[in-house]
Amino acid sequence: MHLRDVRRRLPVLSEPLPPDRTRRILPLAEGEAPTPKIAVWEFTLACDQRCLCCGPRAGKARADELTTDECLKLVDELAELGVGEVTLIGGEAYLRADFILIIRAIRERGMTSTLTTGGYGMTRERAEAMVEAGVQSVSVSVDGLGPEHDRLRARPGSWSRAFQAMRLLREAGAKISANTQINRLTIDPLEELLELLAPAGIHAWQVQVTVAHGGAADHHELLLQPYMYLDLFRTLDRIADRCEELKITLTPANSLGYFGPYAYKLRRRQSRAGHYLGCQAGIAGVAIESDGAIKNCPSLGGRNNVGGSWREHGLRAIWERAPELGYMRKRTEAELWGYCAECYYAELCKGGCTSVSEPLLGRPGNNPMCHHRALEMDKLGLRERIEWVSPSSGEPFDNSLFRVIREHRDPKLRAEHGPVQIDEPRTARADEPFGPGSPAVTDA
Ligand code: SF4
Ligand code: SF4
Repeated sequence: MHLRDVRRRLPVLSEPLPPDRTRRILPLAEGEAPTPKIAVWEFTLACDQRCLCCGPRAGKARADELTTDECLKLVDELAELGVGEVTLIGGEAYLRADFILIIRAIRERGMTSTLTTGGYGMTRERAEAMVEAGVQSVSVSVDGLGPEHDRLRARPGSWSRAFQAMRLLREAGAKISANTQINRLTIDPLEELLELLAPAGIHAWQVQVTVAHGGAADHHELLLQPYMYLDLFRTLDRIADRCEELKITLTPANSLGYFGPYAYKLRRRQSRAGHYLGCQAGIAGVAIESDGAIKNCPSLGGRNNVGGSWREHGLRAIWERAPELGYMRKRTEAELWGYCAECYYAELCKGGCTSVSEPLLGRPGNNPMCHHRALEMDKLGLRERIEWVSPSSGEPFDNSLFRVIREHRDPKLRAEHGPVQIDEPRTARADEPFGPGSPAVTDA
């Protein structure tokens, strides 16, 4: 159906849309059942770009994506479960013309409606339609300057189109933000990029690291090394100051961990505590794949994280009963291993972002991509790096496996003594649900 026809189905508003309910994430009281505050919805897997690092390996729509009527029913269930904000992602949500009906339904049910886009096929008509439907903020993905962005998108001209999308959205009346992946290509021009994003009119900038799933598992040369976090966080400290001057809210994603001297400055707007609160997958967040698979986080997938089909079970049953959704609610420090098991922040952090650690080592609970950890290694004259072990399967959200090598920081000592310690990958949670896991059998 053409967007023009779907627009005709949008009811004319005779009264204002209801106010948004809260999406604030607060610590759970003793015995309190978690309810998802944020839902991230892969509205279609169809995409007009072919990003090298795409987690779900988007391109073609999934075989049996939810129909418009099913989507509208799911919106009702999200509202009934207590969700405060629904973010449409893809693929590219705008490639389904009915996305504006879903935006309107989200708003009618008192939830905040946001959308994330690469912006390649943004048109004035699409921008105006989503604003008319009630979208409250649109985040455009911009990864580096033109050459880096176009290489990562595998689409020449896509960087210019992302900036054009921001202009069209702004002119249509949307509030716009940007999001950027940090990897080996984009780390150096971060500060220069900010100076270009600011005049484009963004109110917020989310920065996240490229994680080793989907396409990025096949392009592991792009992944940051853990020892690079020392320089990265010095850069982020300067960026935080510059964002303050520019009145842009800097939002470090949960993948960008953790603690260390800049933690409060970077995260003070995200939580009252002013620091990372631990993985919220299946606690404050829920995610939907375009065929109705319900999972714990948009950045996770596969058999460890998908709880079941919405078509078969409905949302509440999966949220309350699927073990894949309940894992983070039940886990303890006994799930930690490697350096995270002995870390000062272990009880609070529990190994950081699952979408960073699980795709690297096959199992969460040991996360080398951490600022605090890099600083502690540095104090001991050491550093850590990841080394590729075995390939991915080519499925959405699949992963390669890596090992973590701890070694001397000094090149001469490194050459003389070799590794100080090696953490090999471990078994998947689907095979060994709790505990620190066992050494994985790999092809290497
Ligand atoms: S070392 Fe592990 S547990 Fe400690 S702060 Fe970093 S990610 Fe969290
Ligand atoms: S896996 Fe990472 S992004 Fe997902 S909820 Fe956990 S911390 Fe957040």
